[in-house]
This record gives sequence, C-alpha cells and structure tokens, in this order.
Amino acid sequence: MKQTFRYILFVLVASLWATLCFILPEFLEDPVNGFRGVLTIGLYVAILGGVQFLLLYVFLLNKYVAAVVLPIYSLLGAATAFYRYAYHATITPLMVDVMFHTTKGSVASVMSWQLFVFVGLNLLVAVLFVLYRWKRLTLNAQWIHLLVSVAAFLLYYSFNSYLQKRINQSYPMNVVVSMKEYLSMNREAVQRTDVKIDEVSAVDDLDIVVVLGESARADHVSLNGYPVNTCPRLGERHNLYSLPDIYSQYANTLSSVPHLLTMADSINPSLSASTRSFISVFSDLGYATSWISNQDYGHTYTDFIHEADTAIFPNADKSVYVYHPWYDEDLLPPVDSLMANTDKRKNLYVLHTIGSHWYYNYHVTPSLQQFTPMTDSRIVTQNTEQQMLNSYDNTILYLDYFLDTLISRFEDRTAVVIYLSDHGESLGENGKWLHAGDGEAMHRPAALVWYSDSYAALFPEKAEALKQNSRKRYRTDYLFYSVLSAAGIYADGNNPQVDIFSHR
Ligand SMILES: [Zn+2]
Repeated sequence: MKQTFRYILFVLVASLWATLCFILPEFLEDPVNGFRGVLTIGLYVAILGGVQFLLLYVFLLNKYVAAVVLPIYSLLGAATAFYRYAYHATITPLMVDVMFHTTKGSVASVMSWQLFVFVGLNLLVAVLFVLYRWKRLTLNAQWIHLLVSVAAFLLYYSFNSYLQKRINQSYPMNVVVSMKEYLSMNREAVQRTDVKIDEVSAVDDLDIVVVLGESARADHVSLNGYPVNTCPRLGERHNLYSLPDIYSQYANTLSSVPHLLTMADSINPSLSASTRSFISVFSDLGYATSWISNQDYGHTYTDFIHEADTAIFPNADKSVYVYHPWYDEDLLPPVDSLMANTDKRKNLYVLHTIGSHWYYNYHVTPSLQQFTPMTDSRIVTQNTEQQMLNSYDNTILYLDYFLDTLISRFEDRTAVVIYLSDHGESLGENGKWLHAGDGEAMHRPAALVWYSDSYAALFPEKAEALKQNSRKRYRTDYLFYSVLSAAGIYADGNNPQVDIFSHR
C-alpha cells in the first residue's frame, strides 16, 4: 500500500511537470476575460493534465519502459510546446507531411538556442525522474497497476466526445492523431467513378476561380440587404452577383466540402463518397488545376485535393485550436506565383479559406476590424451579443476585401470567380453560437459570383442567365454543375435546373 501511495505521488509530480511544460504553453495567449476566463482555461489545463497523469502512470510502471519512453515523451513534448508558444505552430497532419516532404506548406523551421535550452532542460528533468524511478521506487504487482491504469485512461478518454476532441488537439494525443491522419491521407485514394463529360465548348483562354468560404452567412452580406455595410468594395463592382437564397444541407466543413465539389445532391448525397470532383474534369480537359488552402487536409476531401496538379498550404502549421491570427490574404501570393508561372491558358484555382471561422478577430487584419466593440474572450459566453456580431461582421468585411483583391487579379483576363461558403453560422439564434450542433442559420451560406468583361463577351448568354438566376433559390448542389458550366463544360447529363449559368 505504501509502495502504491509513493508511486502515485511520484506520477503526480511528473504529470505536474508535464502539464506545466507541455500543456500550459498552448493556452498562454488565449484571449480570455477576468477571473472566470482564467478559471475556465485552468479547467481545460487540469483536464489535459489528467491525460498526462494517466499516461505517465502507465509509462513509468516498468523502469525499463520508463527509461526509454520518458526521455522521448519529454523531447517531443518540449519541442511541440516550444513551437506552439514561440511560433504559434501546432502539430497537424500537414505538419507531419511537411516534416517528411517539406514541399506543401510553410512552417516555422527556425532552430534557436532557446529551443535547445528548453528541450535540454526538460530532457534533464526526464533523466532525473527515470533515475528516481530506478533507485528509489519499487512496485510489485505491476500488471494489476497496468490493467487498472489503462482502463482508467480509456474511460477518461472516451467519457465525453467534446472533451475527446479537445484532448486530441493536445500533447501527446495530437502527435498520435496527426500521424494517423497523415497515414490515412497518404493511403491509396478510394476508387472513384469518373465524371462523364457530354459536351465541351471550345475555349482558348479561361480562368475559373472557385472560393470555398467558411461559416459566412448570406444575411450578413450587405448586398443581400443587411443594414450594416459589410461589402463596401464588392458593392462597387459590376458583373458581381450575390445569391442570397442558398440552402446548405450540411452545417460543418467535413460534410459540406465533399458535397460542394462533387455531383452529390439531396437525392444522392452518397455520391460525394464514390465519384470524382469537378477538379478531375478540369484536369482531364487540360486545365492547370490547383488547391490553395488556409485549412487543413480534411479526411473527407483529401481525395479531391489529390485530383489537383498542385496543392499549397500557406499556413500548414495552424489549426482552429491555435488562438493566433492568420489571414486569407496569405492565399494570394501562391495565386500570384501560379498565375506568373503557368504555361497553360486555362486554369482552375480552388481556394479553401478560413473565412469567418471562430475566433473571428484572428482572421481579420487589424485595419479591417472596423465594427467595435469586438469580442475579447475566446469563451463565447464571456462576450456580449453585440461584441459577437461586430466581430462576425468584421469577418464579412474582410471577405469583401479578400474577394475584391482576388478579383482585381483577374479583371483583365477571361475569368469567373465563384464563391460559396461551406455553411452558415449561428449568431445567438435560440441561444446557439458558432456552428457546433445544428440550427437554421447554419444552413444559409453566403454565395457570390463575379465575371470579367471579356468573359461576358465570350459567353454573353451565361452572363445574362446569371443575372436572371441570381435571386432564385438553390441548394448548394448548384456548385458542381455551375462551375463546369461556367467553363462551357456539360457533364453527367448536365442538370440545367441547378446550373446558374443556364436559361432553362
Ligand atoms: Zn466550415
């Protein structure tokens, strides 16, 4: 009994060290408010500290295992904590990919003496713990301890699905999960059915730009009558149409994006799992295709990213759990360099934005944070409704700026820019916020289309049809056929009912 008590105390001290050095740095910069905010963060840290305790309990049971595992645990934990704190970088599947290939994204690859000192000190602590485990602790009946602690860990880990998601974002589960996701994204792609092409109009030069939005809702776009002027730039543009009445079946990114990219519709939603996307059609027809993303690989749409010739992730080391700014304008330099370097006259650019994802303020550059007061805590309930709305409206103002800047690059070309958000967002309706769970406002995504003058000259009937159709009601199913139709491609029996460029 005394042995067990001493062992528990030993693991408690070790997990306190691991929590302070590997977990706490994740939270040090989170925007929170006052005592209650700090308390909430403290609770998160304590819950994640529980994970450290249970895992270390298992790892330190056997002194030989401890001698191998603890230094590695410490090395990885210290290195990830350092990067998290110093560079706001986190372990993501893409980060693992970058470490193995160093091609697809950019990461803070800076080695510094501070990193070596921090990792070195933590290694030293790990060695001291191992020495203590060898010299001072004896523990009998280790198998019983092992059984009980493994069972306790599994119970703790699967107790609550929300907490499990959070635990998966923190050390060491983030390393495990990212490795697993990395391996799955490099697995053989699912055998998918090709899209059957029926007819293609002859076109010499054309740029099709598809922008996948994030959590932007139609009724906060001023072009649709929202009383706050959230779209001052797009409002001045000609050949620009807002589609105010789009219905999205899904309310989260992972379900929605595959639906948007494929011919899946409300009658056959499962087609998103078995068919190729419009990207493959453009690739097959000789377009240069690219996927430029401010979000992670998502396991539901990895196959479609692979359909593009080029995939670029300017913020590969960021995840939505990192409370630090990163912006959609980071997608523009890759667009510029692709535009400068392409030798093809026909191009498809697919941009996956971070858009209006929480934490709103961190996806809007300071100069565009014009609606105030804004949120000052990542804990939603610490903000007033007005703060939430202001911060959200700033993300639409930023969308206005981002799309306007993107469009300006294509003004002198034969080009179409098609924007559709993956879903909407709840802003306090029935007490719901963000887009966890479900709510009507999450199904009303913002949608916009712009075309250049030379596009209108090439396809006058399409430009005219869009004008007629823009106020109509569509499900997001329209995107697949309309993106193809914009390029004069008619596929899979082309469904004019859902083609915004068609007079039917
Ligand atoms: Zn989303």
